[in-house]
Amino acid sequence: MILCFDIGGSRIKAAVAEAGRLDPLGDCPTPGQDFDAFLAALAGFAAGHALRGVAISIAGVVAPETGRITVANIPCADGRALAEEISAALRLPVLVLNDADCFALAEARQGAGRGHRSVFGVILGTGVGGGLVIDGRLVQGAGGYAGEWGHGPVVAAPWDLPCGCGLRGCVDAVGGARGLEKLHAGLHGGAQPATAILADWGRGAAPAGQTVALWLNLIAPPLALVVNVLGASVLPVGGGLSNVPALLSALDRRVRAAILRPTDIPLIVPALCRPEPGLIGAAEAGLEAFG
Ligand SMILES: [Zn+2]
Repeated sequence: MILCFDIGGSRIKAAVAEAGRLDPLGDCPTPGQDFDAFLAALAGFAAGHALRGVAISIAGVVAPETGRITVANIPCADGRALAEEISAALRLPVLVLNDADCFALAEARQGAGRGHRSVFGVILGTGVGGGLVIDGRLVQGAGGYAGEWGHGPVVAAPWDLPCGCGLRGCVDAVGGARGLEKLHAGLHGGAQPATAILADWGRGAAPAGQTVALWLNLIAPPLALVVNVLGASVLPVGGGLSNVPALLSALDRRVRAAILRPTDIPLIVPALCRPEPGLIGAAEAGLEAFG
């Protein structure tokens, strides 16, 4: 049995996994500022189980070369050799993976990517993320940045929208829920949440239609390039925006029209591993490493 965590900026979710089984253990707030409290929170879930290891999905990027993590929304863990430090505290082997990577691994092995050799998992949540799985294996790449299609100066947005990474023109600045809201505010003023914009779009409201058209114009070309570069045959999508099937269908049509390979089969599809793809992906990786 292994212990799995999905660690975000606000909550730590835990589960124990065995082959073919994932049993949730509940969740708790993430101690973001106090590393001892962070370790104690993880240790609390370990008590009482015969464990072979710990696998963690976290909202940060781990450099495979050094094991050090960059995680902006959990300051007490940022910059640490996290697996090493948790391993010392829990006296168990520990694997730490990026949450979008865990999402992609879950979808490739158990979700919409089953049977596909090149799976690109796309997160359209608050922001934008991605993970790459080829032949069932997670590809982390140099520095752990493989799959990060959200960053890079590629989007010609009509307004200057700086990204948290320091660049300008990032997909992340326009592609997720916050990005959609910025586009809508830029076109029409006000401050509507993405859920309301997309509900208006579903009802055929013209202003929301303009916003979604702009969003598609900005997002579809870089995603089409991703498909061409990787040879991905399916792109399962998770995150809040994936709960709007019509939006994914519209994006799918635009991307398929812009790639080199002609195909009538949808490429951009809703993810199937819900509600906890991070835990499922961590379990897959952890059982392979320690099971
Ligand atoms: Zn960026």
